Amino acid sequence: MSKSKQVIIAGPCSAESPGQLLETATALKLGGRVDYFRAGLWKPRTSPDSFQGVGAEGLKWLKMVREETGLKVATEVGCEKHVTEALKYDIDLLWIGARTVSNPFVVQEIAETLRGTDIHVLVKNPLNPDIELWQGAINRFVRLGIKNVGAIHRGFSVWGKSIYRNSPIWQLPIELKKRMPELLIICDPSHIAGKRSLVPVIAGRAVKEGFGGLMVEVHPDPDKAMSDAAQQVNPLSFENMLKKLDLSGKSAVNNDDPSLDELSTEIEMVDELLIHTIASRIELYRQVSRAGRPEPSVRVKSLGSPACAVGKQPPGVENGNDRVRGLATEDGLRPDFVYRLFDDILRESSHAESVRKGISDK
Ligand code: PEP
Ligand code: MN
Repeated sequence: MSKSKQVIIAGPCSAESPGQLLETATALKLGGRVDYFRAGLWKPRTSPDSFQGVGAEGLKWLKMVREETGLKVATEVGCEKHVTEALKYDIDLLWIGARTVSNPFVVQEIAETLRGTDIHVLVKNPLNPDIELWQGAINRFVRLGIKNVGAIHRGFSVWGKSIYRNSPIWQLPIELKKRMPELLIICDPSHIAGKRSLVPVIAGRAVKEGFGGLMVEVHPDPDKAMSDAAQQVNPLSFENMLKKLDLSGKSAVNNDDPSLDELSTEIEMVDELLIHTIASRIELYRQVSRAGRPEPSVRVKSLGSPACAVGKQPPGVENGNDRVRGLATEDGLRPDFVYRLFDDILRESSHAESVRKGISDK
């Protein structure tokens, strides 16, 4: 893979039929910028009831796509058997999925099956934000003398709600690049985003960060896709996205100037988190008050700003106020502002609890 220009991999999340593959690949070939056509054949799905992929049957379809369009082809492998099958069809590039990377036994088995081939292998990051596990998996290939190894950043599972399907935690791939400067690292904005409207924003950020390429899920009719429907884009949107990106490989690194799109996305994300956090705070209040202690009305007044503090406070409340003051000051916020915010949250908690109990607080 060339290091001077971005490597672009595109195609559907899953192969569904020969017609769907050919239609997508033909459109992508016409755009002229795709290096590898991707399609998942063995799908690592969360539920056994979901579409599991067409399996080895799809290898013939990928071969047909290569013959018809001239595009190189790529698929995911999750065990030794998949690798053996894929090698029979001379697939050009294999990637190791996020779920597989977390299992060193399987990674080792796959690496040993690939020993002595010159196939391209891309190792996705594991589901959890563990750079050692990611680097360790890459090293299993490197140690066995497999030369064409690279990495795919597809985001990480983190607890709590987020606008991303998988949080990008950009520091991790950036750190991996520092540790392995020669390694090709591309970004998969589709699995980070989880929804198609976010894909171009993530792709833009990846290009700015100096990633070596992109892997994007493209489907001719995304809403009807049998897997990952919400995050797939159609070929036209994909081409439009590529046109807006600087894929010369020259814009790289030094992202001290985030775009407006990026900033709005981050604001959106923080707003969402803020709302979910407040909702969780109110829920915790509900649980505490259900346990019967402390009395919600006392707690509202006592935890509020000095202006609404009552004389008799339950134990620990003064400490609570000190803690809030300390945290606010540490983060450069005016304590009065934070007290007011807490007052509102506590008033809302009390109101929600009264409504639940059927007590009017008018
Ligand atoms: C995929 O690329 O379709 C896929 C299953 O990816 P991941 O392993 O990143 O979830
Ligand atoms: Mn997918």
